[in-house]
Amino acid sequence: MPKQPVPAIGIDLGTTYSAIAKIDDTGRPITLPNGEGDLLTPSVVLFEGTNVVVGKEAVKALVTEAEDVALCPKRDLGNRAYHKALHGRQYPPEAIEAWILKKLKDDAAKQIGDFQQVVITVPAYFDEVRRKATQDAGYMAGLEVMDIINEPTAAAVAFGFREGFLNAEGIATEPKNILVYDLGGGTFDVTVMEIRGNQFTALATDGDVRLGGQDWDQRLMDLVAEEFIRHHRLDPRDDPNVVGRLWRECEDVKRTLSARAKASIACDFRGQAVRVELTRQKFEEITRDLVDRTLFTTRQTLQAAGLAWANVDRVLLVGGSSRMPMIRDMLVKLSGKEPDTSVSADEAVAHGAALRAALILARSNGEPPRFHIRNVNSHSLGLAAIDPQTKRKRTAVLIPRNTPLPIAAKRTFKTEKANQRSILVQIVEGESASPDDCSQIGRCTVRDLPPNLPAQTPIEVRFRYLENGRLTVNVEVEGTNKKLQHEIARENSLSPEQLDMWRQYISGIAPGAGPKSQE
Ligand code: ADP
Ligand code: MG
Repeated sequence: MPKQPVPAIGIDLGTTYSAIAKIDDTGRPITLPNGEGDLLTPSVVLFEGTNVVVGKEAVKALVTEAEDVALCPKRDLGNRAYHKALHGRQYPPEAIEAWILKKLKDDAAKQIGDFQQVVITVPAYFDEVRRKATQDAGYMAGLEVMDIINEPTAAAVAFGFREGFLNAEGIATEPKNILVYDLGGGTFDVTVMEIRGNQFTALATDGDVRLGGQDWDQRLMDLVAEEFIRHHRLDPRDDPNVVGRLWRECEDVKRTLSARAKASIACDFRGQAVRVELTRQKFEEITRDLVDRTLFTTRQTLQAAGLAWANVDRVLLVGGSSRMPMIRDMLVKLSGKEPDTSVSADEAVAHGAALRAALILARSNGEPPRFHIRNVNSHSLGLAAIDPQTKRKRTAVLIPRNTPLPIAAKRTFKTEKANQRSILVQIVEGESASPDDCSQIGRCTVRDLPPNLPAQTPIEVRFRYLENGRLTVNVEVEGTNKKLQHEIARENSLSPEQLDMWRQYISGIAPGAGPKSQE
């Protein structure tokens, strides 16, 4: 049989909706519909005993079996377990993400045949821990994750493709600055990108991992619940199934208010009912602070990129929540420009990921790349050190945020006491001067140092940070043969054995990928 070419597949693993795209025969990205015929799959998982249901049907179950439904596992990535037990069991959030990936994979494979290699996107603001968890989710789903790329970068690549910048003849001759404003269901991301020729460079990035459409839904739910309490002295939020139904209802009304000036929400609970009439204006009033949070971050990011609005060529709207008129209005006021909605708010990220996958596959076939991506890191990376003067713990930054990647950085520290036998290297990520307020992303220990090492012996620490946001740390103690190389192991990470166990459980692929091991 002739060997099938490997398809270029990109996956947008969203907080609330996910999508999968491939590059078609003409080189264009297209979204592949799921088994239900939809382009978007809700990132929602229902556990009913050993049966795991993903997507629309899991959303429906929120009305009757809310306790067994996992919403937004992406928000919990980096934690040891999903925040609630499901059908009496604790799951790591990456395992729940893996079931979502598996559904996307299986549904797509029915149309295009089996595949393993994919590119998955993550919010630019995701830290090291969450990136690794995303890669692990792909592994558990039986995929081979060729790369993880930032969602806004993916959106910009999709935009660049649409504008023809990826073709030799269409290459952007003048550099263009694009601000990508991505407001999804659970996360907000803003990135300033420069497109120069076929080079896509992120200049600055920021965001909020806990801000998205769901916060707007929640405001509506609270409004209805308060009305209910006022009329009936009962709180419908006490029953998880009623909350599930109310949430679906509020999300729907929110979408209605993107198209219409008014809508109404009904809620019944324990034989009582209320109906709340709502105008778009009122909705905008009760959510203004949320819009303002995105405004503030957008302004800061532009500043971090060293640009003014006059230097921004396009404001690209991405993410389902960017469809709310209040977002467009805010951006028009802020930037003085009409935002660009030429790429599909829902599909751009998956399309960019597929274009990236095509690039990687072409490179492995020895073909010249059609475009290049350069990223910046979204958080400062450093170590917990002791200030020699104050003797207090202090964050020593090796790579400041918004540094172009890849980057290697070096800094020399000193041992504290004479005759020190081990050194603990504690790697932190974040902007606080106190390492305890940063995110702890890993630690390693240099042991068995030779005796009688003098105090103040230099320790050289090197960081190597790759484009995909993964970090390697090297430690060398001067005058000794002590060298350590450490690929970040997360504090909360699953061991390779656990990963294999989940991979087998979720995707049926045996550890080692070879023949099954003997019992
Ligand atoms: P994510 O990437 O976080 O999964 P998406 O970009 O798919 O999210 O956006 C999903 C969010 O967009 C949901 O909160 C959804 O309610 C919201 N959304 C989608 N369409 C509209 C609309 N027309 N008006 C308002 N909100 C919308
Ligand atoms: Mg998204």
